Order: sequence, then structure tokens, then C-alpha cells
Amino acid sequence: MNNFSLHLATKVLFGEGQIAQLPTVIPSDARVLITYGGGSIKRNGVLEQVHNALKGYTLFEFGGIEPNPTYETLMKAVEEVHNNKIDFLLSVGGGSVLDGTKFIAAAADYLGEPWEIVTSRGKKVTKAIPIGSVLTLPATGSEMNDGAVISRRETGDKQAFMSEHVLPKFAILDPVTTYSLPPRQVANGVVDAFIHTIEQYLTYPVNAKVQDRFAEGLLLTLIEEGPKALKDPEDYAVRANIMWSATMALNGLIGAGVPQDWTTHMLGHELTAMHGLDHAQTLAIILPAVMRAKKQQKREKLLQYAERVWDIRCGTDDERIEAAIVATEQFFQQMGAPTRLSDYQLDGSTIPALVKKLEEHGMTKLGERQDITLADSQKIYQSAI
Ligand code: NAP
Ligand code: FE
Repeated sequence: MNNFSLHLATKVLFGEGQIAQLPTVIPSDARVLITYGGGSIKRNGVLEQVHNALKGYTLFEFGGIEPNPTYETLMKAVEEVHNNKIDFLLSVGGGSVLDGTKFIAAAADYLGEPWEIVTSRGKKVTKAIPIGSVLTLPATGSEMNDGAVISRRETGDKQAFMSEHVLPKFAILDPVTTYSLPPRQVANGVVDAFIHTIEQYLTYPVNAKVQDRFAEGLLLTLIEEGPKALKDPEDYAVRANIMWSATMALNGLIGAGVPQDWTTHMLGHELTAMHGLDHAQTLAIILPAVMRAKKQQKREKLLQYAERVWDIRCGTDDERIEAAIVATEQFFQQMGAPTRLSDYQLDGSTIPALVKKLEEHGMTKLGERQDITLADSQKIYQSAI
């Protein structure tokens, strides 16, 4: 196991009815800006629950944060923060609202051009307005991590930044709020959480047995519960297990002391920025191609994955690895997430442009061994057609 430092500083309030606990985690004299997306929280009653919990607070609202939140929209929220002297941000919604809120929090206190927050990958952030989250879409893990992914319409960029200053102070996770998710977002959430786990698990062994078995537990849970959530959207236990899996998949715990890949995410971000596919839709396409391209380097962990996650025990090493990759593809398809670019009528003609964007964003050495070059990324996109 590699050395690590781990500080899980987000307070989690998990379970039905926990939105009522908001006054215990937001200072009573705070000037709070509630941030949200396109209106799902109005339709499913979550915003009303938030208002009921925060009676007597000084509240403001900023709606309209879009999936894959954009710099252009978020800068309007920064203006609201300044105009209303906001000192607490409450994100109510999915990962996009929360990521966007992290950017607002850092940008509001930033001296200089705020896009530098993103281009410096968060290194230039020295302070931020405190954030809390009521999460309505289990997927990103953003509720308990210090990362955010921000898009810029003007330039067609989608890039991540990380800063301890934007780590949420608390996360309210009420599985009931996820009953209203459309099937496509259920699929996106399960696939994203699954692939976050894979990015930190399917690398090379460092004898980290606890992290491996935590990761395998998350994968098995998502495989078991994902299809059930599609079939019976109001099964509380299913929703609770998915929600907690998604948080645990990217809160630092399974990633402590192990090598990490993230190639699938980096190649996926460019696909979203250029073609507008949902984040998880891009991952379901890219991951199988990465698994096949890096079969040799990931051999030991792929065999472990085949046996422990998919119970594949027959055949040669190569056959078992291929069977595990096929099982992974079938799981994504079963959830409703296609696994090929051509499923979205993309014929590969934009691959040179995608690779150029990767280069522009400094993604020239990817993977747990930093050995995936631009030429390799090109081949991965190619084989995903
Ligand atoms: P999302 O983009 O936040 O939301 C997708 C859609 O789901 C929106 O239209 C939203 O509608 C709707 N929705 C959310 N909750 C709902 C509910 N309970 N009922 C009905 N509809 C609901 O999706 P996401 O997958 O959570 O976030 C994706 C973003 O996160 C991407 O930009 C991705 O790159 C990023 N990401 C971040 C991290 C990280 O660590 N920070 C990791 C992976 C990915 P409304 O807008 O109307 O609410
Ligand atoms: Fe993700």
C-alpha cells in the first residue's frame, strides 16, 4: 500500500427527512444563496422542504445552473453573491449544481480572472465561501470531495479543478429525493459511480486489500441495485444503497494509498464538451476501450475483477479478461447506457479534434503509469466507434 493522507471533513446527514436538519449545519445569521438547476427541485418538492427547514433565515436563490455547468452562467451567480453579501452557499440538486457552486464559492473570493481557477486546476484558490449540499442525484461524489468540473461555452472547454477550500461542509443525502429521477439519470448515476470506483481500482496491485475489497463491494452493490432502481423507482433500500455507494466511490476512501487511472474521465470530458453527451454516457463508451487497450498493463487487476466482481473462473487468462469486459458492457447497456460512439451517430470524424483538445488541456500522459500518449488516446477513441 502506498503512503497517504486522508481527511474526510464533510459531515454527512443520511436518510429520509434529513433536510429538516439544515438549521443544525448552517449558522443562523448566515446570508444564504440557494443554488439550483433547471427546476427539478421545484417539481419534486425538495425546494419546499428546504424552505420549510430554513424558516427565519435570510435566503436568496439562483436557478438555471445547467448540466455541465458553464462559466458563463456561474459568473452571473458570482455577481449575485457580491450584490447580496452572501456568506453561505447551499447547493440543492445534482453534481452539476454542486460543481457549479464550488466554482461560485471560489470565484466570489478570487482576485483576478476567475477562469484561472480552472486552468490552474485549483492551485490558485486560497479561500472560498463555505458550501453545503442537499444532493438529489447520486453519481459524482462531489458532495464529499474537493473536485468540480466546469465548462466554458465560448471555447468549448470542459476541465476539472480541485481545492480543499471548496470541500462541502455538509452533505444531506435523503434517498427519497432521488425517486423522481428519470431513467436516463438513474443510469448516469450508477455508471458514473461504477467508473469512479474502477478508475481507482483497475490499475496495478499495491497490496491494498482493504481498498480493493471496499471497491469490489461498491461495484457489486451497483451491479445488484442499479437495475432494481430502474424497475422500482420508489424502493427506499435500493435508492439508499445506490446513494451511499456513489458517495463512497469518490470521497477519498477507496482512492487512499492506491494508484489511480482517470483516463476514461479525461477522454470523456472532451466528448461532452464537443458533442454534448451526458458525462456518464461518455464514460460507458470509453471505459471498455481503455480496458482493452491497457489489457497487458492492467492484467492482474483485470483477472481479480473478473473473478471477484463477475465470478468468472473458467477459460484462459485472456478469455476471462475479455469475458469481464463484455460483462461490464452488458451491465452498462442493461442500465440503458450504450457503449459505442456509433450508438450516438458519431462516426469518428472528430477524433483528431478531440485529441487536439486533449493536448491543449495538457492530457498528454494519462493513466496510472502516465504512459497513455496522445497517439494512444487517439487509438482508444478509434476503437470506441
Ligand atoms: P446533473 O448534470 O447534475 O443533473 C442531470 C439532470 O438530472 C438535470 O437535468 C437535473 O435537473 C436532473 N435531476 C437531478 N436531480 C433530480 C431529481 N431528484 N429528480 C429529477 N431530475 C433530477 O447530473 P450529475 O450526473 O449529478 O452531474 C454531472 C456533472 O458532474 C458533469 O458535469 C460531470 O462532469 C461532473 N462530475 C463531477 C465529479 C466531481 O467529483 N465533482 C465527478 C464526476 C462527474 P435540474 O437541472 O432541473 O435539477
Ligand atoms: Fe465522473
